[in-house]
Amino acid sequence: MEVSSLKRTTKIINQAKAEGRHALLEPEAKLICMEYGIPVTKFKVASNEKQAAEYADEIGYPVVLKIVSPDVIHKSDAGGVMVNLKTPSDVQNAYKKILENVKKYNANAKIVGVLVQEMAPQSTETIVGAIKDPQFGPTIMFGLGGIFVEVLKDVNFRIAPITAGDAKEMITQLKAYPLLKGFRNTPPADIDALVAILVSTSRLVMDNPEIKELDLNPVLAYQSGAKTVDARIILE
Ligand code: ADP
Ligand code: MG
Repeated sequence: MEVSSLKRTTKIINQAKAEGRHALLEPEAKLICMEYGIPVTKFKVASNEKQAAEYADEIGYPVVLKIVSPDVIHKSDAGGVMVNLKTPSDVQNAYKKILENVKKYNANAKIVGVLVQEMAPQSTETIVGAIKDPQFGPTIMFGLGGIFVEVLKDVNFRIAPITAGDAKEMITQLKAYPLLKGFRNTPPADIDALVAILVSTSRLVMDNPEIKELDLNPVLAYQSGAKTVDARIILE
């Protein structure tokens, strides 16, 4: 582990702790992911509509806007996520709408800003997680998104630290693995890219014992590469 990456990660974690926050904001969690080489959607935090439109121009359309607030953990529940915005005026309207929705959801929510981010093309949704097992400590989880996790509980766990071989098993031993391997109209997913994300996630949580929970949900799996669209990190 590069010392500077760990230092930058510790700085983000300490800043949150100093503010009495246990849940990192999405941009904070994504900056940490970037320090560990985990691919995330490009993003910038805007503080007004005009700035949001400028950032969208820089990032390239279409974009997604999301609320950044320590008081809104599940952003879509609060009407805090708007996807597929194609023009500067879409972005400015979405900015207003998101603030309106969030105020309705929680009038006292502290607003840090609005995250403008690259819209990732749709693909197979996977979930990468880390929890602390009371007995075994940091444990890494992998599964496919939606019904696979929620209904079928088709997920695999390994105690951290994990090797690339462990990560590959976590993926290939899923019941839903045939979907990742390629199925009818679905092209095969880049398994090595997912392996790399799992190994990096293991390194991330081993390096930072203050992390109680990590949730990359979803990580979109592509034919070439993979991309984290949402990241949550909860501290002890
Ligand atoms: P939350 O889980 O806090 O409600 P997310 O950031 O996961 O919010 O956004 C909700 C959903 O919107 C995601 O599961 C995904 O389907 C979609 N989404 C969010 N960000 C992007 C993005 N950058 N590109 C494509 N889809 C996105
Ligand atoms: Mg999410």
